[in-house]
This record gives sequence, C-alpha cells and structure tokens, in this order.
Amino acid sequence: MFQTIRGTFDILPDGADSAGSPVPSTAAWLHAETVVREIMARYAFEEIRTPILEPLDLIARGVGGTTDIVQKEMFTVERSKETYVLRPEVTAPVMRAYLQHALAQRGGAQRLFYVGPCFRAERPQKGRYRQFHQFGTELLGSADPRADVDVIANLRAIYDAFGVTGTRLRLNSIGDAEDRPRYRDALRDYFAPHADVLSETSRTRLESNPLRILDTKVPAEIALLADAPVMADFLGSEAADHHGDVKELLASLDIPFFEDPLLVRGLDYYTRTVFELESDALGAQGALGAGGRYDGLAEAVGSKSPVPAVGYAAGFERLFIALAAQGIVPATADKPDAFIVALGEDAERVALSIAQSLRTNGRSVDFSLDGKSMKAQMKAADRSGAGLTLILGQDEITAGTVIVRDMKTREQTALQQADVPGALNARLQFDPAASKSGKA
Ligand code: AMP
Repeated sequence: MFQTIRGTFDILPDGADSAGSPVPSTAAWLHAETVVREIMARYAFEEIRTPILEPLDLIARGVGGTTDIVQKEMFTVERSKETYVLRPEVTAPVMRAYLQHALAQRGGAQRLFYVGPCFRAERPQKGRYRQFHQFGTELLGSADPRADVDVIANLRAIYDAFGVTGTRLRLNSIGDAEDRPRYRDALRDYFAPHADVLSETSRTRLESNPLRILDTKVPAEIALLADAPVMADFLGSEAADHHGDVKELLASLDIPFFEDPLLVRGLDYYTRTVFELESDALGAQGALGAGGRYDGLAEAVGSKSPVPAVGYAAGFERLFIALAAQGIVPATADKPDAFIVALGEDAERVALSIAQSLRTNGRSVDFSLDGKSMKAQMKAADRSGAGLTLILGQDEITAGTVIVRDMKTREQTALQQADVPGALNARLQFDPAASKSGKA
C-alpha cells in the first residue's frame, strides 16, 4: 500500500488526521479560500497563479543563497539538463511574472494575491509540512508607506474575518541595503568576543549573514541578544522616516503592533518594513504569516531598474491550528438537495432520469448504487444529509408518482413524477434550509 510522502497530506471530504494533526475537510479548505478571496477583493488585490515549477536560479537568487530554504529545503526536479524547483514560496515567482509580462504597463501599482501550495523539505511537525498552502499579497511598484500599511491591514482583516484572536503583530525595519553593512559590522563586532558561546551554525552566520543570528532559538545565544546592537540605530534617514510613517499610519487605523528590534527575515531581499503576525495557538511553530518590503528583489532576479514592493505570505495550515485552538468549527460541505430511494429495476431507471432532470434544473441529487433493501437505502438517505428523500417503489412506478419525504418533519406527500422538478424547486426556494446544511 502506498502512503502520502512524509510531510504531505490528503485533503478529504470528511477531513483526516496527518501525523497527529487534524487536516480539515475539503469544504473547510474551500470556505477558507473563499474568505481569503473575499477580503483580497475588498483591498482590490487581483489573483495571480504562477507555475509550481520554477527555474532553480530564480529561487536561488530571489530567496537568497544564505537562507535555509535555498541551502537545504528545496525540492528540485531534473529534466533535460535543466534543474527546476517546486516553489518554496511565491514572492520570487510573482516578481518574475511581473517582469516577464511587463505588468507595470497596466499602470499604477499592481496589487496581486495568490493562493496555492508551496514545498520545503523541512522536518515535518505540527504546523510545519513539506507541502503546505499559502495565501499572500504582493503590492508591486510603490514605495509609499501606505502600501506597507495596506498589506498589513489586509493581513489583519483576513484573520479578523475568521474570528482569530490572541494574535500579535511584530514590526521592525531592517533599513535599506546601504544601511545594513554598518549594522552587520556592528553585529560582528558584538558577537566576535562571544564566539565560544555561539553554535556552529551561528559562527558560520557571523560571516555569511549575522542578522540571522537574531533568529536564534539557542538559549545561550538568546541571552546574548539582550545587549546586541539594534537596527533602529543604523537606519538611514529615509528608511527611518518611512518606518515612522508606517507606525503612524498603523496607529491611525487602530491596528495594534509592537516593535521588535530582533525581527529580521531569513530572506535576503527584504528592505525597510518587516512584520510577522504571531498567534498564541502556534507556540514554536512560528508565525501565522510574515512579510515586508523587498525593494531589492526585482534587481536580484534580473530587472534593470528597481521595483519597490511589499507583501506577505501566510499559511492555511497555521490558520486552521489557530481556529481549532479557539474551537471554531470549520465550514462543512453542502448536503445534496435530495436523495432518491428506488426499489426494483424499473424504479431504478425512473430514479436515474428524475435525478438527471433535477440536476439539469440545478439541484444536487444523490442515490444509492448498492443499497438493495428499502431499509438500507433509507439509511443511506439519512447519512447523505439530504433534506428530502424521493421514494420510488413498484406502486409508485405503476401510478407514475413519487413519494417526497421531508427528512426533518418525516412528512410524506405523493407527487406526479413529471411535477417533481417544479415542486422541488418551489419548495427549496421557499425553504432553502430544508436541504442545505448551513455554513458554520
Ligand atoms: P515564510 O515564507 O517562511 O515567511 O512563511 C510564510 C508563512 O508560510 C509562515 O508564516 C507560515 O504560515 C507558512 N509556512 C512557511 N513554511 C511552512 C511549512 N513548512 N509548513 C506550514 N506552513 C508554512
């Protein structure tokens, strides 16, 4: 028997369990994606869909050579001497698309969003998978601090729409590219005398990318961070003004945040604003979503001129963890409008044609393919959750009728077979709740 690959999971109609974590039902995923799309529309973000496979170089350059993603988490595919990557994130692909199709020519800043799977060969654990599912925004072509605030407001609005509480928005500025070398030097000077305390990883990062030491989870290193120099003291005046504007605008929208001087991003192309939305529900699994400004990305992936841009990425799996922690039940699937029970071959044939005409009329209809006895079929009707059961026995076939049973009131009425679509439509329009289960 084959099994899903480690760190991946199936999404099933009734939901499932993956390595001890619940995976919500297909209906819950669809509902979550619908809510995300609704809020994206309010913020005038337009959906973009890029391929799962992207060139290795795009990801290596776009995500940054010193990141864990590029160094050890990429799923690569070799084909005709080319190496492709299953996308580990969508920002570099969206920037590729923006440049490839000259989307700037549409005029103004481009407000794009995406929903879809990403792939990273991380150690699987709760809230951390090898195939996971992101939604995110990319606002391309604006350096305005209002753009930063717009994507943060959008992120906030999405979790508000789901009713997620117990979150904190952490905010920092990591300055412009020209501000960072001075800060890197300051960090190197600060950590160098403590090199004996540093882990091997951090000693390597001291050379390659000392900002990443601020990300450490090692207690002895965390203790060192208390007195480490902070980026705020190294911001150039433009980056400092930008940061001030972002904070003021967030406050003006009553979006709570707190400044975290240790917040940096593992990705190299970030400039100025960085933020993360944390949740009490996640613990060690990190953030619900994270993002920032990445004015350096376009040139890193080959653009001749810079494209100021800001965005975030967030994970559906972690959203579901936060919802579960609050006892919020994800949406359940719509039930069929009607279930048809048929006894005997003649009845089965009539049942099939009634099902077809109802479906042509826009109704969803189920019937049993295996239940032979009336009792077994009525059980199946019950299980289906349909509001109405249509019953066809030999008597009904002879009379050209069908019995309509309301599954809630157990009331039964006989109708002429030809009248069924019209009668059902009238009934379902009058009382949609008779057939559909409500969304939680
Ligand atoms: P990142 O691109 O690493 O900043 O990730 C952005 C968001 O994607 C995170 O805040 C998570 O919600 C989600 N995410 C990233 N990696 C994983 C993963 N391996 N499994 C599940 N969700 C993830």
